[in-house]
Amino acid sequence: MHKICVIEGDGIGKEVVPAAVEVLKATGVEFEFNHALAGDEVFEKTGVALPEETIAAAKAADAILFGAAGETAADVIVKLRKILDTYANIRPVKSYNGINCLKTGIDYIIVRENTEGLYKGIEAEIADGVTVATRVITKDASERIFKHAFEMAKDRKKQGTAGKVTCAHKANVLKITDGLFKKTFYEVSNDYKDIQTEDFYVDAMNMFIISRPETFDIVVTSNLFGDILSDGAVGMVGGLGMAPSGNVGDKYGLFEPIHGSAPDIAGKGLANPTATILTAVMMLRYLKENEAAEKVEKALEEVLSLGLTTPDLGGTLSTSEMGQEVAKRV
Ligand code: ATP
Ligand code: MG
Repeated sequence: MHKICVIEGDGIGKEVVPAAVEVLKATGVEFEFNHALAGDEVFEKTGVALPEETIAAAKAADAILFGAAGETAADVIVKLRKILDTYANIRPVKSYNGINCLKTGIDYIIVRENTEGLYKGIEAEIADGVTVATRVITKDASERIFKHAFEMAKDRKKQGTAGKVTCAHKANVLKITDGLFKKTFYEVSNDYKDIQTEDFYVDAMNMFIISRPETFDIVVTSNLFGDILSDGAVGMVGGLGMAPSGNVGDKYGLFEPIHGSAPDIAGKGLANPTATILTAVMMLRYLKENEAAEKVEKALEEVLSLGLTTPDLGGTLSTSEMGQEVAKRV
């Protein structure tokens, strides 16, 4: 029995999350779903965007499924990631049949360090018209993100991938910070002799995610680079409606579609539930329910290839109808 904390949040979160929960229920895996509030709506009512009860419910769960928060996103999801110390941001990049992808045969995962780097938030104006930001790379945080990446590569290799980890950095210019990052990568790789390794400068990597994305398995990088690379990567395989993500640490897993609350289409049944269903697939794998994950992914692939989709993908179904098509096949 897995305890899942479900936070629908705002806007289309209220449509795509129920569709994904419907699909999860169809797997036959035993879940206990605990619904909790966060986002603009609860903020307007109570003055708090992320209530204490929600934090407690998240901590009590085996995994958290999150929809979207609107204006309050920084106070909700960014804060939640911090509280739960989810240091790895996981972004799968996969091309599905029936989706307008820029290339086919893409199936890799970007693992982005989520706690330090240039997003540490250490900025200052040191003189009039002179500002600086401090980029923090530590050995400890690098080690744990690399271990995470190699463990994922090991798991995926069992399921038939190449078993390779690619590190993106800029050690030629950022000699000290990325010097440490790259050195630590190869140190950690010593414990994973069965996994291939390679490293590229991030600018070259940016070209390769476009020119030869099919050659990657696990890509691991620092915070800012991962942020930029992953949006580009996802742009190759169908964009926001298709993109799931996970935030994983040693104790907690928080899973969310990359898109936001999309107020322009909210409440109309127009939202594509694919990103959130794929997010549920990631959550299933995190819970070691690999068989159920496989089933859901297969069902979704069939629905996509039959064109049983929401209008953004060219179909005529509503959010819940598309969810039902997937659930039915699961
Ligand atoms: P937020 O401030 O919460 O991020 P946003 O206005 O930036 O909201 P996003 O959710 O980031 O909206 O999405 C940007 C655009 O992409 C939206 O205008 C929306 O039409 C489209 N979009 C996003 N997610 C989906 C989806 N699941 N299905 C269909 N269209 C989507
Ligand atoms: Mg947005």
